[in-house]
Amino acid sequence: MRVVNIDDYEPLVGKKTIERIRKKASKFQGFHVVNINSTYYGGGVAELLSSMTLLMNGIGIKAGWRVMQGSPDYFSITKKMHNALQGDEINLTKRKMELYEEIVEENSIRNHLNHEMVIVHDPQPLSMIKHYKKYGPWVWRCHLDMSNPNRELWDYLMPIIEKYDAVVFSLQEYKKKLETPQLFFMPAINPFSIKNKEMSEWEIKERLEHYKIPTDLPLVVQVSRFDRWKDPEGVIEAFKIAQKKVKATLVLLGNVATDDPEGVDVYRSLLDNQSERIKILSVEDTALVNALQRHAAVVLQKSIREGFGLTVTEAMWKGTAVIGGNAGGIRYQIRDGENGFLVSSIEEAAQRIIQLINDKRLRKKLGRKAKESVRRQFLMTRLLEQYLDMFASFETKYRLK
Ligand code: UDP
Repeated sequence: MRVVNIDDYEPLVGKKTIERIRKKASKFQGFHVVNINSTYYGGGVAELLSSMTLLMNGIGIKAGWRVMQGSPDYFSITKKMHNALQGDEINLTKRKMELYEEIVEENSIRNHLNHEMVIVHDPQPLSMIKHYKKYGPWVWRCHLDMSNPNRELWDYLMPIIEKYDAVVFSLQEYKKKLETPQLFFMPAINPFSIKNKEMSEWEIKERLEHYKIPTDLPLVVQVSRFDRWKDPEGVIEAFKIAQKKVKATLVLLGNVATDDPEGVDVYRSLLDNQSERIKILSVEDTALVNALQRHAAVVLQKSIREGFGLTVTEAMWKGTAVIGGNAGGIRYQIRDGENGFLVSSIEEAAQRIIQLINDKRLRKKLGRKAKESVRRQFLMTRLLEQYLDMFASFETKYRLK
């Protein structure tokens, strides 16, 4: 299998779009940009970077990707920061912040960054900017649900954030009072990856059988990191209510990102709910994600906080009916009742599960619209073009090498 190229997108987005992107990229041949985040797999940021860096290289941009290395206590602190930025309380002790700063400094020493642009993702590597002489703009790309960040942590981070030349949030509504210019890019998917590409009925069946997932009844599925913001307990409760009215099987598929020390406990806490009709799986298999999202009668993403929610995009792309929590970026993907459903409670989720299991035509109708909205708004080419526009917007400020 060869690496996906921008031209592969032509049948989906049209010739004009590809030509426009190539033209914009022509000014940035050999442009040296590096991304830094904190995990190479598990979660949306790694998913985005693995496709975007390759796509950029394919059009002549030298886009790299580095991953933070840290001890378990560093990742425990950064996960607390992640939670606090999404609204949790945090006990911000001097010891914790010193450890955070120390690991960031160590990473800064061993990463030699003299790129024309540095893109730092999320809070884990945020402080790296303190340790470099800039050769070009530094951009902080924050993927979190920033609707209600913890004040104390925000006050600590703000002076660091303001050292950046631009901040990119996923949604306009996450905009903050900052000196730094702010941009808004919603994430996107690669429709050709193993996770998203077409699968034959046979391939789907084979993957589901491999994991002994019963297909005699309709499947209700949630695919998510084991994280309480994704509300797996709420999914199970909603399913149990729905089970009183409809026959179905629930599959919760999850993984644990390398930068998330809480995931294992969340996974374990769910296991008591397992039954003949409630399957909880923790396996790393992207073809299984694809097969489940395709075979499901209903995909849930019942998040309470969600920066964007790539799992929603992925399922919508497969023409599956999605029920999403009325939170963060999910609300910008699902138009309630048109291409999916938005829910704000467990009871509402249960009612929508029942309705969708009972109404195949409705599922098909929502799914068709869902796929079309992803084609128009949420494919990688749109995000790539936003990045190119951002590169161009800096041209006047920093003289490119
Ligand atoms: N994912 C996966 N396997 C799993 C659970 C999640 O591959 O068992 C992927 C999922 O398909 C998606 C990403 O992890 O590509 C999650 O991104 P999202 O934006 O939904 O949430 P995040 O984890 O970044 O909060």
